[in-house]
Amino acid sequence: MTEEQILNTYTLIEKHHDSHLKQHGVKLPRLTLGGKYTKDALTLVFLAQNYPDTKAVSKTELTEFIKQYYPDVNDVQQARHLAAQKGWYILSGTRKDNNSLGINAGEYKLVSLEKFYPGFTHQRRELQEGEDFFEALKAQYDYRCATCGSKEGEPHRYWKNTTTVLQMGHMDPQKPLKEGNIIPQCEKCNRPDRNYWIYDAKGRVVGIGNEKVVDTCTPEMQKKIFDRLKTILNK
Ligand SMILES: [Zn+2]
Repeated sequence: MTEEQILNTYTLIEKHHDSHLKQHGVKLPRLTLGGKYTKDALTLVFLAQNYPDTKAVSKTELTEFIKQYYPDVNDVQQARHLAAQKGWYILSGTRKDNNSLGINAGEYKLVSLEKFYPGFTHQRRELQEGEDFFEALKAQYDYRCATCGSKEGEPHRYWKNTTTVLQMGHMDPQKPLKEGNIIPQCEKCNRPDRNYWIYDAKGRVVGIGNEKVVDTCTPEMQKKIFDRLKTILNK
């Protein structure tokens, strides 16, 4: 990309950020710092080329581009951080649910400059309300997910291509997300569609958060639950 293309693309990003993303807490990286392009801005600009007709970009292509400005860079992590931590709607091909968008493993694609990364506001809003509280809570948990033990900023225990980002997870999903009902959980353990369980402060399952969980039980277990409920409800 030429200097002019970089500047023009950044201006386009800035415009969209101003109109659509800023109010949701998405952070626009500075274009330059100390007279040098920032890695975050370079990554965003590279992914936003020809917006809205962006294409999936391989990590290798992205790294080669960043290397023109930062020759020592070997492994560019910016795309993932821009999505998970700063809210930009960049999907990665390591997530198996992105096949419909034509993103292969090891590729990134900027999907939109008008919508933020799915799940981002949710996390951001809560963080703003209790940022200090949550930082202190994470420290108590040694910056690990209460459920799977993955450590913040490090590769996930089971999804090695995913950097662990801790979120506020419900202990009991039926109750409001506030102090006393919060444990740190990674994005994988904190997915809303996994709200089947009630956890204690140690991340252990202590109850059922959604009755649908019986659907996946064996017929034998369903029969046992049925008999048990009959006994309980007839009391
Ligand atoms: Zn986890």
